[in-house]
Amino acid sequence: MKADFRTSRRQLLKVVVLGTALAPLVDLGMRTAMAADAPLLTEDDPTAKALKYVPDASKATGAKPGSKCANCNFFQGAPGANAGPCQIFPGKAVKAAGWCVSWAAKPN
Ligand code: SF4
Repeated sequence: MKADFRTSRRQLLKVVVLGTALAPLVDLGMRTAMAADAPLLTEDDPTAKALKYVPDASKATGAKPGSKCANCNFFQGAPGANAGPCQIFPGKAVKAAGWCVSWAAKPN
C-alpha cells in the first residue's frame, strides 16, 4: 500500500514537472494561432493614427533608419513572419515591415 502511494506521488510529480515545462510552448502556440487570426492593423485605426503607424517603415517620417516592426521590442510575430501581434495594438496584427512612434529596439 505504501509503495502504491509513493508510485502515484512520483507519477503526479512527473505530470506537474512536464506540464510546467510544456506550458510556455503551449502559450507560444496559442499566441501564434491567435496572431494568424488577428486582423491587420490599418492606418485608419485611431490608435494607429495617433502613433503614426505605417505598414511600410520606408514611408514613415521620423523613423530611425533600419527600424521596423520586425526588430521592435513590442513585436511578437514569429521570426521571418510577414506580420504578427504587437503589444501596443492588442487584438491586431502589424506588418513586419511596418513602423510606429513607439518603436523600441529589440534587445540582442
Ligand atoms: S510598437 Fe513596434 S511592433 Fe508595434 S507597431 Fe510600433 S514599431 Fe511596430
